[in-house]
Amino acid sequence: LMSIYQPLNILGWAYREIKQSAVDMERLFDTLALKPDVADAPDARPLQLQGGAVRFDTVGFAHDGRARSIDGVSLDVAPGSFVGLCGPSGAGKSTILRLLFRFYDPAAGRVLIDGQDLTHVTQESLRDALGLVPQDVVLFNDTLRANVIYGRPEASEADILDALERAQLGDFVRALPEGLATRVGERGLKLSGGEKQRVGVARAILKNPAVLVLDEATSALDSETEKEVQAALAEAARGRTTIAVAHRLSTIANADRIYVMDAGRIAESGTHAELLDRDGLYARMWKRQSEAGDSAAAIDAP
Ligand code: ATP
Repeated sequence: LMSIYQPLNILGWAYREIKQSAVDMERLFDTLALKPDVADAPDARPLQLQGGAVRFDTVGFAHDGRARSIDGVSLDVAPGSFVGLCGPSGAGKSTILRLLFRFYDPAAGRVLIDGQDLTHVTQESLRDALGLVPQDVVLFNDTLRANVIYGRPEASEADILDALERAQLGDFVRALPEGLATRVGERGLKLSGGEKQRVGVARAILKNPAVLVLDEATSALDSETEKEVQAALAEAARGRTTIAVAHRLSTIANADRIYVMDAGRIAESGTHAELLDRDGLYARMWKRQSEAGDSAAAIDAP
């Protein structure tokens, strides 16, 4: 009997999941290009947040039939700190993010937030604790308000405007005759790449997660737009634990700590200055980007 019910259970679970936070998760799945293949443990408990400390404790993970995608990865992200993650294409950066969002469980080691193993907490509480500004922010065919609010449906008008202000979109909204009621997306007002990014930042600011993940786009914005997006991101990161995957090293040069990944392992870690002194992989990548003209060069561009 169990074998008949199990698929139905899974469908029911998926349905509830999808209904609960349809848009958010849909976009997240799109972004990370997969669906989670984990379920809550029978004794799963809500995550008890303290400061939002993130720890990877000798984590290993292999995609089906592949060699280890990541192997023995340990990361320590102190509450409220800003940590950068970089490394060549295929190094395992996205895999790290997916493990943090618990799209998979590690094959070895543990991923912890505030000391709690993610395999023991409810996925709902984990999702509430995490925010993501993805590489490509997708806008729905709806109002600007609806596009910003879905991380926190009960947010007030004042909260939404404040989030947009902090995401450097205050002037933009004030210039719109219909303000928050302006329709955006494919069938509405077309936003530039930088504006879309900042809508993504406003969503994250409004959601106010304990841990924020920034997944930097590979393609460079023009330098003026880049400056505005960076200011918005810095505002979103202020006072909360932030993990930023960077393709342009300049965006994480001020990080409290930078982890450099290579072939599934942490090759080096330290501050920007320490890593330059070390004269290893990071220093080489930095040199290459500086020579190529910073905004034009993404280290892991194919
Ligand atoms: P990029 O900067 O190009 O996005 P990355 O550092 O994020 O790269 P990952 O995407 O985490 O790297 O990939 C790490 C390793 O896992 C690579 O060898 C990759 O080919 C492999 N991999 C990633 N996703 C899958 C998947 N869905 N199935 C099989 N192998 C995968």
